Order: sequence, then C-alpha cells, then structure tokens
Amino acid sequence: MKKTFITLEQLQKIAVTYPTPYHLYDEKGIRENARRLKKAFSWNPGFKEFFAVKATPTPAILKILHEEGCGTDCSSMTELMLSERCGITGQDIMFSSNATPPEEFLKALELGAIINLDDYTHIDFLSKLAPIPETVCCRYNPGGVFSVANHIMDNPNDAKYGMTREQMIAAFKKLQELGAKKFGIHAFLASNTISNEYYPQLAAQLFELAVDLKRETGADIAFINLSGGVGIPYEPEQPANDIMLIGEGVRRAFESILTPAGMNNVAIYTELGRFMLAPYGCLVARAIHEKHIYKEYIGLDACAVNLMRPAMYGAYHHITVMGKENAPNDHKYDITGSLCENNDKFAIDRMLPKIDIGDFIVIHDTGAHGHSMGYNYNGKLRSAELLLREDGSIQLIRRAETPEDYFATAIF
Ligand SMILES: *Cc1c(COP(=O)(O)O)cnc(C)c1O
Repeated sequence: MKKTFITLEQLQKIAVTYPTPYHLYDEKGIRENARRLKKAFSWNPGFKEFFAVKATPTPAILKILHEEGCGTDCSSMTELMLSERCGITGQDIMFSSNATPPEEFLKALELGAIINLDDYTHIDFLSKLAPIPETVCCRYNPGGVFSVANHIMDNPNDAKYGMTREQMIAAFKKLQELGAKKFGIHAFLASNTISNEYYPQLAAQLFELAVDLKRETGADIAFINLSGGVGIPYEPEQPANDIMLIGEGVRRAFESILTPAGMNNVAIYTELGRFMLAPYGCLVARAIHEKHIYKEYIGLDACAVNLMRPAMYGAYHHITVMGKENAPNDHKYDITGSLCENNDKFAIDRMLPKIDIGDFIVIHDTGAHGHSMGYNYNGKLRSAELLLREDGSIQLIRRAETPEDYFATAIF
C-alpha cells in the first residue's frame, strides 16, 4: 500500500490557513533521499548531483538540495537566473540545454556554469560568442535502442539530443584546439527507468567511450554525467529502485573499465529530477462534486493545470482518500478536474473507497514534473506550494497565482 506523508488531521489544520488545491512537499523525505544518493556514490570522491531544475523550479526546494550538496541542472535562461537567485552559481551549475539561444550560452558563461554542448555545431556557435571555457562537457547519443536484458527501455535513434560517436571524437579534438582543458561526457538514454541496471549499463557505455576518447584525442576526462532517468514506482505494485545497488553497479563498471585504463580520478555526476523529488510531493485537493451518468464521476477543485501528467501521458498517479485508508476499494470512479477537456481526468475507472463531498484527496508522487508543468488553460491558475518542515510546521514556499497574475501580460 502506498502511504501518504501527511495525515488527515494535519490536512484539516492546514485548511484553516491554505485552501486546496496545493502541492505539498516533505522536507524530511527530500533530505533523507538526497543523503542516500550521496551515500550510494560515496566511493567516488568527486560525485555530485545537479538537480534537474525543470522538475521542481521552486527556490525553497533548490536551497534544501543545495544544503545537501546538490548543484542545479539548468536548460534555459530563467532556470539559470533562478539558480543564481538561489545563490547557486559557478561549477555548481550544469547547463544541459539544446537548441540553445546565444544569450543563454552567454548567461551560463557569466555564471561560470559547466556547459554541456548538445551538438558538434555548437562549438562554432559558442566560440563565436566567447572564448571556449576551460571545462566543457559534450552530450552523447549512441543511436539504436537502449536495452537492458533484452528489454528495450528507450530509442536514442529517434531522440533529438546529443552527438554521434564520430562527432564526439571530432568535438574533443576541436575543443582542445580552442583551449578546453577538462572534459565531461553526458548522456540521457531512457526516462523513468524502474531498473537497478539502467545507470550501471549507461555508465559502462560511457566509461568505454571515455577510454576511447582519451586514447584517440588525449583529452583529460574529468567527469562523466549519467544525467537523469532513474525512475520511481508510481504504481503501488511496482518495486522501487534500490539506489545503493545502483551505486554499487556503477562502481563495478568503474572498477572494471576506468580503473584499468588509469582513469581513477573521473568524477561521477548525476542530474536526477524525478528520483530526487517525485515521491516527496503530493497534490492535495478536495472532492467538490459527484456525478452519476453512464459512469460515476468525482469532480475535484484541482485540474490538469495543477498536474498534467495523467492528461498528457495517461500517467498513473496513486490516489488516497484521506481518512478512508482502510476502507474497501468498492467504488469505481473517474476522478476529474474542471477543464473543458475530456482528458482532464486524474484517474479513469479507479477502484476507491466511497468518496463524499469535502473529502481530502491526495494525489501521490507529484513532487517532480508536477507543479512545474502547470499552465493556465481555461483561465485556471497555478496553485500554491507548501513545505512540511522537519519539525512538522507548514511553510508557504510559493503563493497561489491570482487573477492579477493571469492578467499581467494582457494588453487591455
Ligand atoms: C529532464 C532532464 C533531467 C531529469 O530527468 P528525470 O527523469 O527527472 O530524472 C536531467 N537532465 C536533462 C538534460 C534533462 O532534460
């Protein structure tokens, strides 16, 4: 059974100050998980996680992670500015962008961020703007399909990101000519993987590439960035990844490929988003309508603008009807929002306990790619974000949008 990190009594107390809907984050869970990740890679002295800002671009969250030793992974101007405003700058920023506008490269350089080049042609593009920095990273795309134990996890051949193997070699040579001294290799080949093998297999591919690149170009390879993609179990029957096993698997690949090549100093970097935050956030809403036509519907005060993943990908998000955790799941509902879009459903044909008007409905695992994917369709406003502190208190970390925010760009 999937458990909530908040109780009905706590939600009733929060309701005195903050109306639903809102996203709620669990500071204790976030910190403990960040420490587990660090421990899993503690065998690698240079290890560092750069949190993928797009997953949860909320200053209070970025600061908590920064306190736990994480940097930021940015991919746009505003993400760079956000990181800067949180006091996270320099080589604590990985700039992993694509189709990058010139002013964003310049901002990244101004902040001293590590630039991760998505394409061979970006070398010229960047060198026309400014001198090539001393440390630079290149993004790799091996093509083909990425599979683990005959199971296809994703299809890099169809992905717009990264450079071919030949381009990586040419890029490292050219970047050295232009003054680069330290190199990184990055690849993101599969998303939301539920497998302790994804990182180790990706690492093995990148370690072998690193050995070849060093041999063929003489480049000093300082770090390998395994990027994001470690998933979380959205469904109650799915097993969770074991980050300690994942760290061990990467260590084994490191010791069998990099150590014999005399490359013991390579640092391992990660850019996890979902794994860092998704389970430690939830969307809290209330049932405000019930409707009986050809199916049974429960209408919430939240809708797809607060959480787009079910409408966009048909993604499963577990739902708990608060106070009814032990009641039988003997009612079949579609749980809907209020958009004039029939795909605005948080769940379809979901078996749940009987829901009454006013019940608190907790939608799980919204801590990453939740609030951040919000939008304003139908004039709907983005919700507040609240933090459940380690001492049990509640802190407002982003206020809800108001109609004035919505009108702010309109020209009347
Ligand atoms: C989205 C993204 C991530 C984070 O992915 P998760 O699946 O949330 O771990 C990391 N790096 C890059 C370049 C990304 O685009």
